[in-house]
Formats: sequence, structure tokens, C-alpha cells
Amino acid sequence: MSAKIINGTEIAAQIRDELRREVAELKHQRGVVPGLVTILVGENPASVSYVTAKQKTSHELGFYSIQDNQPPDVSEEQLLKLIQGYNHDPKIHGILVQLPLPKHIDEKKVINAIDPDKDVDAFHPVNVGRLMIGGDEAKFLPCTPAGIQELIARSGYKTDGAEVVVVGRSNIVGKPIANILLQKAPKANATVTIVHTGTKDMASHCKRADILIVAAGVPNLVKPEWIKPGACVIDVGVNRVGEKISEKTGKKIAILKGDVDFDAAKEIAGAITPVPGGVGPMTITMLMANTVKAAKLAAGG
Ligand code: NAP
Repeated sequence: MSAKIINGTEIAAQIRDELRREVAELKHQRGVVPGLVTILVGENPASVSYVTAKQKTSHELGFYSIQDNQPPDVSEEQLLKLIQGYNHDPKIHGILVQLPLPKHIDEKKVINAIDPDKDVDAFHPVNVGRLMIGGDEAKFLPCTPAGIQELIARSGYKTDGAEVVVVGRSNIVGKPIANILLQKAPKANATVTIVHTGTKDMASHCKRADILIVAAGVPNLVKPEWIKPGACVIDVGVNRVGEKISEKTGKKIAILKGDVDFDAAKEIAGAITPVPGGVGPMTITMLMANTVKAAKLAAGG
């Protein structure tokens, strides 16, 4: 039987509807308007399109939002000063600096300069530590892993007591999603294994997984025979494997593939995310959720 397809676009839209209501309530009952600034250095086309999408969503949800464009030669000092200004601006609850930054700017210094209580990307070491501790300490979860947790929960898979295997140990996906699902908390409480290039027998670990999360950046890395029948498969990978002409626009677009052999895997898994349209649409939505949470916390919880 073919797996249920986990539709990230639909689930993200549901969460945005919930956020829209929450924002309206915050405005009417407490006079609080969530504020988000997105800082873009230079004109890298991928970064421009990410920032544009973030701005569009924040406007749709009724945020106060600022798009701060800086020239490619802005100095590190100027950028740090700019961040300090937003750290002290009471109308701004979330600060996002679009990465990557030009080579003359130290990304670590920039991330560390953001007030952890406004760090809606949750990349600041304080927020990484808060996530490790868990419970009330974890104010913001990093956006892609938080989106993965919602996709699993909202598609009806129980994480409590489940065997979760995560392929990949990056700081932005693998490690944080493992930590999130390990917590003694709702939508978590799983037994988590992380596999990586140093793992001896990846297939044997993957075959045990009730929930298999793959974030390696290698097209078709996970073979169908590595999947336990009925498992929930979350494919985080986004790999450009070629180009095609879009039927809608007539323009050239990238052909994207995940890290899992989707066509074969869907005949074995119980549920699976497509690429595109699975994890991708969740990331910006969870950034918005973090900004709403930051605004609430700033207003006293
Ligand atoms: P990354 O920083 O390159 O990390 C990849 C991880 O996968 C590393 O830990 C690496 O192991 C492991 N890995 C790579 N090849 C492997 C192999 N053959 N066997 C076992 N493990 C292997 O990548 P990332 O930033 O986590 O991103 C992973 C993928 O997710 C990429 O395709 C990226 O585009 C995508 N992504 C999507 C979203 C979204 O919103 N949809 C967001 C973030 C990332 P080692 O540590 O041993 O090198």
C-alpha cells in the first residue's frame, strides 16, 4: 500500500491560520504587535528570495516588520552596531540575519551579538544550551527542526516511546531535532539514534526506525530496503539534480530531490514527506511562531 503523503504546505498553512488568530488576539487584548526585522547583506539571489518570503509571511500575519538591506561591503562593526540598535528597539521582538554573510564578516560574532531573547532563528549558543536543558528553558526551537516536530505530531505519529533515527548531525538540523525529540515532553520522549559518516552500519540503524529523519544532503542516500514497513519518513534533504522548464511560468527551474528514494520508499513507509512540499514550507512558518512567542515573552508571557 502506498504511504500517506505528509503535506508540509497544508500543515504550514494551518499553523499560519492559528498564528494569525493569535496575533489578532495579542493586538486587541494586550496592544502587542509582534515585530520582526530581517537583515540582508548584499544581493545573493537565494538570500533575497528567502528574505522576501519571510517578509511576505510576516506582513500576511499582521506583524510590524522591517526589511533592512545592507550593501555587500558593510563592515562587521557597522553590522554589529545595527544589531545592537535592534536589540534595544522595543518594537522589534525577533532579529533575523540572513546567512550566509560575505567572507569579511565573522558569522559567529554576528549570531552572538543578537539578544538571545530576540534570536528567533535559535542559533545563539544560549538558545542551543536552553534547548539541551529543555522544559521551560527552551524558549525558541530552531525553525527547521521545530517544523519537523510539528509535521510528525500533526500527521498523527506518536513520538512517545518511538525509535527515532536521525541521519546527519549538523547544528541546524540533525543535532537539534535529535535533542528536541529526546526531551521528556509532549511531542517528544523518543529513543533517539543519530547516524553519520562515521557510523559502521547505517542500514541496520535505519531499519529499526519507527520515525526516520534524513538530513544528509545526498540524493537517494536512503534505500527503500532500509525503511521499516509502516515507518514515518521525514526527508529534509534538498538536492538540485538538474533543471527543467516550468509549465506555469515557462522559465528554467531547478529539479529538486530529497535524500530518500521517494518513489520506492512510499511503497514501504506508512507516511512520507515529499521534496519539495514537505519540510521546506514549515521553516518560515516556525520562524513566525518564534516571533509571536518572543513578543509574548517580552510582554510578560
Ligand atoms: P550538513 O551541514 O552538510 O550536514 C550533513 C550531515 O549529514 C552531516 O552530519 C554528515 O555527516 C551527514 N552525511 C552526509 N553524507 C552522509 C552519508 N553518506 N552517510 C551518512 N551521513 C552522511 O547539512 P544540513 O545543513 O544538515 O542539511 C542537510 C540537508 O537538508 C541538505 O540537503 C539541506 O539543503 C537540507 N535542508 C533543508 C531545509 C529545509 O528547510 N527544507 C533546512 C535545512 C537543511 P558528518 O557529520 O559525518 O560529515
